Amino acid sequence: MRTARRAVHAAAPALKRRRFLQLAGLAAAWPQAGFSQTKKAKPPGTKLPPGTKPPPGILVNDVHAQLSSARVFAIAQPFDLDGVRKAFELAKTEEKPICIAGGRHSMGGQPFVQDGVMIDTRKLNRVLGFDIERGLIEVESGIMWPQLLQHLVSAQFGRETKWAFKQKQTGADRLTIGGCLSANIHGRGLAFAPFIGDVESFRLLNAKGDLVQCSRSENPELFSLAIGGYGLFGFIYSATLRLVPRLKLERVVELRDIASLPEAFDERIRDGYLYGDFQYATDERSEDYLRRGVFSCYRPVSDERPVPERQKELGERDWLELLSLAHSNKSEAFRRYAAFYLSTSGQLYWSDEHQMSFYPDNYHREIDRRASAPNRATESITEIYCERERLEAFMADVRETARRDQLNIIYGTVRLIEQDRESFLAWARKPYACVIFNLHVEHNSSGTIRAGDQFRRLIDVGIKHGGSYYPTYNRYALRRQVDFCFPQFMQFLRLKKKYDPQELFQSDWYRHYQRMYFPT
Ligand SMILES: Cc1cc2nc3c(=O)[nH]c(=O)nc-3n(C[C@H](O)[C@H](O)[C@H](O)COP(=O)(O)OP(=O)(O)OC[C@H]3O[C@@H](n4cnc5c(N)ncnc54)[C@H](O)[C@@H]3O)c2cc1C
Repeated sequence: MRTARRAVHAAAPALKRRRFLQLAGLAAAWPQAGFSQTKKAKPPGTKLPPGTKPPPGILVNDVHAQLSSARVFAIAQPFDLDGVRKAFELAKTEEKPICIAGGRHSMGGQPFVQDGVMIDTRKLNRVLGFDIERGLIEVESGIMWPQLLQHLVSAQFGRETKWAFKQKQTGADRLTIGGCLSANIHGRGLAFAPFIGDVESFRLLNAKGDLVQCSRSENPELFSLAIGGYGLFGFIYSATLRLVPRLKLERVVELRDIASLPEAFDERIRDGYLYGDFQYATDERSEDYLRRGVFSCYRPVSDERPVPERQKELGERDWLELLSLAHSNKSEAFRRYAAFYLSTSGQLYWSDEHQMSFYPDNYHREIDRRASAPNRATESITEIYCERERLEAFMADVRETARRDQLNIIYGTVRLIEQDRESFLAWARKPYACVIFNLHVEHNSSGTIRAGDQFRRLIDVGIKHGGSYYPTYNRYALRRQVDFCFPQFMQFLRLKKKYDPQELFQSDWYRHYQRMYFPT
């Protein structure tokens, strides 16, 4: 707290005086305050020459790829709706756009805008209401999955039947509900549509400062635009989620070949399994490359079966070891991962808890250190879709492309998605197979240029097989690729202007597409 106050003073001259005095009470974070990434040691090679001043603004970045940095003018971290309104006033007085950041896991610059006022939602994390009869819960948009899970467990303690969330992302937990709505996320459900299906309604503070209720019956157009709308249609203050009965699930694991995967998924769905994915092998020198994988699915079992106190699970150290091996000895990483997962076949989990995962923050620094890497690196994700029956052919084409163009795939999975018939910028235009690729990217100019080329090639392979891509992870797609996969994109940008003619809500992602579609 003291740091934050001192930092507010340090930034005061940049603010219009009157607003600064009013904002002293607003939980606003300024340079060096409030965010871990501004406090962390600078990576090697980024030291400024002696006597040089850092550029103005606060440096922000996404947590995983760390390739979407921006310098924002100020960061406001409101605790309530009033605080959000004050951040709006600040932006208007300073004539700056607003960007909205939750857990900062999107990687295409969606939460940031150069020189804008960034609203960090993470302190807006209260549960506002829980209709235990109907299974509806209203939460502030900055709440993250661990907090929501904690609330659901404690508020329903001792009840015979309980509610749970239906789906969340895999691979990370500290993501906000606002971020989930805005990217219209999905989990590893075998027969689920994206997150919009789990949303009953939300309240959005629009560019005029009005709090608007949005649902399928109230402001339905805004409902379909703001979900999957990447923060461009207003500030989502709260969301009411549709919960599902909490179930006990058994994990069933086997090794499979990609050729038999579509049928195996179908079989599992027919047999009543609810969740599942396929983690494929990534050693390009192996016969198993992008072919063999660990197929883990989860089916409901009787509530009578107790979940044992101690089950096998991987700890932080194990994950780090696996991630490190996935860089240095991919076959061994796959062997160990497969052996571990096979040994857990038959273990029981609650339907919400089994979706939680472990993400070691900044794990790549340790990997770079162990490898004495000459350049910093991270993984950058992409998610490519193809028609389900063309999965084998899609993976064969990726195998060829990846070997030819030396893609360094560190890990990846195959999942399923049902068609999204509700959101405007729907990425799940059909029931697809979703293939996730985590590519190793070196943070120098040749590394990032190569990554852009590689991601574009993967999109083309997806398009060839009747598919598309997820716009959350980067903004490398070419205009022809965006047009093909999102023919509604230009209309999406036009509707943004209809709801926000002054372009109060912006992001570097938005500016990129504005330039792409409306070059001046
Ligand atoms: C390791 C990792 C694993 C992932 N796994 C999955 C996965 O399994 N499935 C999947 O679908 N995605 C996955 N993602 C992507 C992730 O779900 C999205 O990036 C999601 O938006 C992140 O939420 P966040 O809280 O970090 O939001 P941010 O990245 O901070 O923001 C995302 C977007 O939401 C907007 N936004 C946030 N809060 C609000 C608000 N209150 N009002 C209006 N707009 C708002 C922002 O402006 C931005 O446009 C993964 C990402 C990583 C890095």
